[in-house]
Amino acid sequence: MPDSDALAEILERIDGRGYRAYRDIRGAFDFAGALLYIDHVQSDPFAAPSKLRFRVPMERAQLPSELFRDRVRETALADFLARRIRDALQEEIPRSTGTGKSGRVSIDAGGQEVLERCAVKLTPDWVEARLSVGLPASGRRARGREAAQLLCRILPSAVERGLLWAELPHDETRDFVHCIENQEALRRELGHHELVAFVANGSILPRKSGDSDRPLTGEEVVPFHSPPSLEVELELPNPFRSGGTPPTSTVRGMGIPRGITLIVGGGYHGKSTLLQALERGIHPHVPGDGRERVVSAGQLAKIRAEDGRAVTGVDISPFVGELPGTGEGRDTRCFSSQDASGSTSQAATIAEALEAGAGGLLMDEDTCATNFMVRDDRMQALVASENEPITPFVDRIRELFETRGISTVLVMGGSGAYFEAADRVIAMNDYRAEDVTEAAHAIAHAQPTARVPTEACAPIGPAAPRKPDPRSLDPSRGRRDVKVDARGCERIAFGTSEIDLRGLEQLFDPSQTRAIALALVRIRQHAQETPSSLSQILDAIDSAIDAQGLETLDPFGSRGEHPGSLARPRRIEIAAALNRLRSLQLR
Ligand code: ADP
Ligand code: MG
Repeated sequence: MPDSDALAEILERIDGRGYRAYRDIRGAFDFAGALLYIDHVQSDPFAAPSKLRFRVPMERAQLPSELFRDRVRETALADFLARRIRDALQEEIPRSTGTGKSGRVSIDAGGQEVLERCAVKLTPDWVEARLSVGLPASGRRARGREAAQLLCRILPSAVERGLLWAELPHDETRDFVHCIENQEALRRELGHHELVAFVANGSILPRKSGDSDRPLTGEEVVPFHSPPSLEVELELPNPFRSGGTPPTSTVRGMGIPRGITLIVGGGYHGKSTLLQALERGIHPHVPGDGRERVVSAGQLAKIRAEDGRAVTGVDISPFVGELPGTGEGRDTRCFSSQDASGSTSQAATIAEALEAGAGGLLMDEDTCATNFMVRDDRMQALVASENEPITPFVDRIRELFETRGISTVLVMGGSGAYFEAADRVIAMNDYRAEDVTEAAHAIAHAQPTARVPTEACAPIGPAAPRKPDPRSLDPSRGRRDVKVDARGCERIAFGTSEIDLRGLEQLFDPSQTRAIALALVRIRQHAQETPSSLSQILDAIDSAIDAQGLETLDPFGSRGEHPGSLARPRRIEIAAALNRLRSLQLR
């Protein structure tokens, strides 16, 4: 195998030649035992960057095997290494004066959440960083000499700063892995204690700003504290240290039990902030995030209204009866629309989340359709019930829990209609949580509502399975059979269609969106092979990822390019993307 000197020689030789000459560096190079793989070379300085991998044998990296002995630890350590590499690259890669993406080197490290991702791969024998590199150019000419410096000297040393145990801060690395492991352990504890979520005392929930996911800092921040009646103590596998306090192996905080929980309180008192922490608690957070001891059950689904979205063949009959008009899709047992209303979109999103395996629902009045949530006595008096197809959620929320075990956590500051249904009511008052369940129940008793519960239109049973028609999932575009891509977090280009994911509030990372785009291609393949239900297909995709890793989603792997910028999405979000594809049809 050619070595790094050989690579430097090629690069010297092509210095000043046309950019295409970079093609000659494709291949693998031996860097004194480490390996540099150049999998893909970009065709011009403005094209998507080149893809490289730097692999270090474990004898050299010396990473303690106990730090990646199981899946949780492996995910945590790989995530930590990717962050270290990102920081080292930022410090060490000089700014290039060249054209386009010249000299830019990046790794797909994560944000505040820690997700299973492909940026760093750990095996017992080696550890590998997957990188994107803009090969340097002046105009359309290769800057071979600069590339030689970059690839043969600067890049390996920067990457090794994040991969070699000798270079890593040992305590910080261990603390990171332990912190993530603690969160996954707490999540398992939830089940044993019949909880859907846990918020540790001392957690910092508010964020810096509407567009920053970092913790709010400053004197005005009120750390979370549980009301005494909801406080629980959970065990941690790794002792937790905070500030100067001695390490503890338990953590105390608010446990939100299964059932129906209402979050009330005045405007601007921290209701939505608490709910958002629960939404994000489905994944672990980095130490220092403020939410690194806030965990929620992995399959909680945030539900919102999303008028204008497409809906395909969804049974919304438990919430919506006969709709006006007669056209196709008007049967609410199999409701379709290219432009759903607020209430029908919300009903469909619930049905779809349950189909995809949601174990509980999170809702915030800020993003719900009012007519879906409640219909008060005056409106009942004015509009005859024959003319109102909607059974409001308030009349189904208990049944949903009692017959299907689906818990709901609901923020509702503007209506007392849910007092009867709620098992407990948490009031946020000046960012402080109080248990006001008794008061709310007493009020419900003393001032019974005059509204009449709606006669339910259909029981909330499991809906008939939906089987996607593969012909309606066409990822081709022009001459390419498969042309799919993510545009940021919120959009997928799937063939010639665009999928709008702005309504998915639990999708955090553009790399998850990229993985979803590939998962949709998988769904099509499955559907072509056997006419399966969506939930069967999601099962198959999940087990494939469990068994073979996230890389199994990448159909380009066969072309030798690394899948370094994927992060694992939940099945709920994969399904949600499919459900928003406007061309979707069922068999
Ligand atoms: P609500 O939903 O009750 O109207 P929000 O949760 O949107 O209120 O919070 C209102 C504002 O208060 C936000 O700007 C948020 O960042 C801030 N905030 C929330 N919780 C805290 C807290 N514990 N300490 C300080 N500020 C907070
Ligand atoms: Mg709010």
